[in-house]
Amino acid sequence: MTTGSGASAGSAASTGRAEDATSHREGRTSATSVRVTEIFHSIQGESSWVGLPCTFVRLTGCPLRCVWCDTAYAFHGGTRRTLDAVMEEVAAKGCRMIEITGGEPLVQPGAAVLARRLVDEGYTVLVETSGALDIGVLDPRVHTIMDLKCPDSGEEHRNLWSNLEHLTGRDEVKFVVAGLEDFAWAAAVIREHGLDRRVRAGSLGALLISPVWGLEGLEELAGQVLSSGLPLRFQTQLHKHIWGPDRPGV
Ligand code: SF4
Repeated sequence: MTTGSGASAGSAASTGRAEDATSHREGRTSATSVRVTEIFHSIQGESSWVGLPCTFVRLTGCPLRCVWCDTAYAFHGGTRRTLDAVMEEVAAKGCRMIEITGGEPLVQPGAAVLARRLVDEGYTVLVETSGALDIGVLDPRVHTIMDLKCPDSGEEHRNLWSNLEHLTGRDEVKFVVAGLEDFAWAAAVIREHGLDRRVRAGSLGALLISPVWGLEGLEELAGQVLSSGLPLRFQTQLHKHIWGPDRPGV
């Protein structure tokens, strides 16, 4: 658990992540395939990248079971694909922004290798992760969008707090909130760990408050966001507004 703050903490985190990525490149790059649920081109529905065209690589499997999970179809099945085949399919989509998501992508060693290969090719690469697995395996050029699981997810105990040390100025932290108590928890965590100063070196918009789809009382929640005085981005899921909440592959 980190107590560092400000630019120095961000700089130290960047260095640590770079070292970790180097060791990953040197020592754990044997993975040549991943299990894939779907690859599709769509509009980015969340984060500070919302609204931009993006190709999504949804990997299969997740060790968590958030009560409000909207991608349970990615828990099982999928197709094992070589990284070369994934790279080819991604290239064919013709989009320079790629998000590797899941499930929990980092449960597969090939995810970090795929992310590095994509950044090597000049793509802008986002990795969306639960926050329960070590993000230090990711190349520091990746934009990590990391959840911290709030109590009502049922998975708060899975938060890997050492991950805060690996956050860099490229990264974002997302809190999916199921109500005002979750929001109060998120605000307390942000203050306790100085996340408003650490993530993206304190720039606006990298701390995401994302209400569970269908949550009632958004006005009250928005009021809490405003009165907190924290530099939060209050977001709903754009892709669900466009295509509905239950459609995969968009
Ligand atoms: S971590 Fe993500 S994929 Fe896994 S159960 Fe939670 S919401 Fe679903």
